[in-house]
Amino acid sequence: MRVDIISIFPEYFTPLDVSLIGKARQKGLLDIRLHQLRDWTHDVHRTVDDTPYGGGPGMVMKPEPWGEAIDAVVGAATTPPRLVVPTPSGRPFTQEVALEYAKEPWLLFAPARYEGIDSRVMAEYASRLRVDEVGIGDYVLAGGEAAVLVIVEAVGRLLPGVLGNAGSVADDSFAPGAMADLLEGPVYTKPPVWRGHEVPPILLSGNHGAIARWRRDQALRRTIAKRPELAARLDRRALDKRDREI
Ligand code: SAM
Repeated sequence: MRVDIISIFPEYFTPLDVSLIGKARQKGLLDIRLHQLRDWTHDVHRTVDDTPYGGGPGMVMKPEPWGEAIDAVVGAATTPPRLVVPTPSGRPFTQEVALEYAKEPWLLFAPARYEGIDSRVMAEYASRLRVDEVGIGDYVLAGGEAAVLVIVEAVGRLLPGVLGNAGSVADDSFAPGAMADLLEGPVYTKPPVWRGHEVPPILLSGNHGAIARWRRDQALRRTIAKRPELAARLDRRALDKRDREI
């Protein structure tokens, strides 16, 4: 997958050199290209913002540098990228959206600063690209760079060959399928007793069927306790008799 990121803080993305995503880049599974938005300004101050029309506090990102930058990155591509614009007012970013993005060959991110990007930029590209305004949660960050890091990590780990054990995606919270609204239950490793806390004996039993059942029970209990709104959304048809008793 190719990922382009246009930002006034390209240095913000050094975490993409480490761990899983760093290894995916080394293996050539992820081609991440960073661009400095100010390279597409033409004044001595390399200005990317201006005061908002209509007044009010804060500054708004000017359309011209964004337009030039996006045009330059997209070029004459016959299959253009999907343009992802992080904003608190966007479509909520979920595991479902991450799975959708993982199927794309090319994503282009436009993280803003200040009060965001002049809205005409999204309107302009909506006729040429698929434009997604995406929010990573109901809170306000200082800029879109952290949101891009979140999205790239969530999407990158879903790409074929990135995770050592691809099966772990199927056990994750929000795993795709009929039980997509289920959280993963608690996990344990050695030693069997730590500071007096024991690992649930069923996990040491070697009985794979019983362990799978226990894990499902725990996942359901955790979802009901911590995210009742997700539990309420669970597909009733995917629940068995035991699930319903929980
Ligand atoms: N005034 C804007 C509003 O209330 O929607 C928030 C602007 S915020 C200070 C600056 C930038 O950070 C946004 O344009 C966006 O790129 C990014 N951002 C902030 N919170 C975000 C969130 N929850 N999800 C995605 N991006 C976010």
